[in-house]
Amino acid sequence: MNFTKRRIEILSLLLLFIVAVMLIFPVSAETADSDNVPIFTIPGKTTIYDMKMITEKSESSIDYDSLKIPESVIASSDAKKASGEIAKDSEIYDVICFNNPIPDRQAEITLPITLYGKDYLLLLKRMNFENIDDGIDSYEGVISGIDDSHVVLTADMDNILCGFISYPGEYITISAIQASENSRTTGMPLHIVYSEYDMLQPDEPIEFCGVKDQIQTPPLYEKIVKPAGSNSKGPYDTVYVDVLVVTDNAFYSSSWVTTAQSYIATANSVTSYGRDDVKVVLVPLYDATHRFQLSANSSITTYPLETLAYYYPLSTLDFLDVDLCIYLGGYDITGEWNVAQGLSWGYDTRYAWSQMVIDWSGPVYNGNDYSRTYSIIHEIGHCFGAVHEQTYTWWLLNVRNTVMLSEYYGYPFSLLEFSSPSYNGDATHNNAQIIRNNKTSVSLYT
Ligand SMILES: [Zn+2]
Repeated sequence: MNFTKRRIEILSLLLLFIVAVMLIFPVSAETADSDNVPIFTIPGKTTIYDMKMITEKSESSIDYDSLKIPESVIASSDAKKASGEIAKDSEIYDVICFNNPIPDRQAEITLPITLYGKDYLLLLKRMNFENIDDGIDSYEGVISGIDDSHVVLTADMDNILCGFISYPGEYITISAIQASENSRTTGMPLHIVYSEYDMLQPDEPIEFCGVKDQIQTPPLYEKIVKPAGSNSKGPYDTVYVDVLVVTDNAFYSSSWVTTAQSYIATANSVTSYGRDDVKVVLVPLYDATHRFQLSANSSITTYPLETLAYYYPLSTLDFLDVDLCIYLGGYDITGEWNVAQGLSWGYDTRYAWSQMVIDWSGPVYNGNDYSRTYSIIHEIGHCFGAVHEQTYTWWLLNVRNTVMLSEYYGYPFSLLEFSSPSYNGDATHNNAQIIRNNKTSVSLYT
């Protein structure tokens, strides 16, 4: 494969695509880092902190030492200051906290918000992928009146709210940066809010996944999964797959489940496993009981999957009645799989690992919420038999790097979507069909 040539081709197409997008969606002045205009608030339920006070560590009740702003976000903010795109004393992100952001957890809610100072209404429906009533609820919906908007938010009972709000030309991430240790003193843990468009993105794609295939989807036939019967599921029926979500001591915090659930919620959303031609519901069960052992094992940074399977053997997965197991890893992998940000053993196996932190080998995988979610959807995809595929392009201006591409381009060029002839693909780019064909057998592990 002539990688360089292909890369140049792809970058040229991306450039054309960007120009086209700019013509269609003129960049709003509001998306710049306007002075003192908050990126996102829920009116009456949001406190916005002055970053100058925070960085100068002046007197306040905030525990500054436990601020956990991701390095990639700080680096992106510094780059904007250095280039003069934002003022030296401003940041690309807001630091905010919430007071009871979604008090009524009804099946359908409307949530008044502001985006860059303008009022909007979110129309949200509770996602019912959980079996547990833990006060952590995920909602999916749209911004009223804005075409192609998409919102996924997860709220817990400790004033944490995380997820994203997107519409053409914008993708706002809301991310909890403090574990709820801090909530014991403030009652309201800190969050950061930023636009993915302000983040540093990879200047070149690199290998993303440690799974060593690189093939296009072969043409497929629809598979009749089971003969007719009371339990039979057709390929277009919803199939529930139980997923054990585990972590180590490095990623663990007392609010890690809320964060993990926001990633699973995005995976279950209508653009990914929730698509009409995929229809898989990932039902999470969270477990951190082996976090100390995982972190203490010397193989954790070199062979995360093997180490995971050691502490969570198949007998444990069977006992817990889960089909798959994904490990949200708090370490940058080293050794043989150094370049990988995720691994899986593929179809007919039940384990996956996704890296939750920045890869220091380059600014390619920045370890923020978007890239973490990409990695989780991708690696679980392998467990359903989804394969790596080439970038899908058609006409001149359309480039789609679907979630099963083995190279990560960052936002907005790496989508969280599978390939399908109905949206991003053709007969040879059709991971939606592979998952559809295999989902029932995956759901029958337990
Ligand atoms: Zn892969």
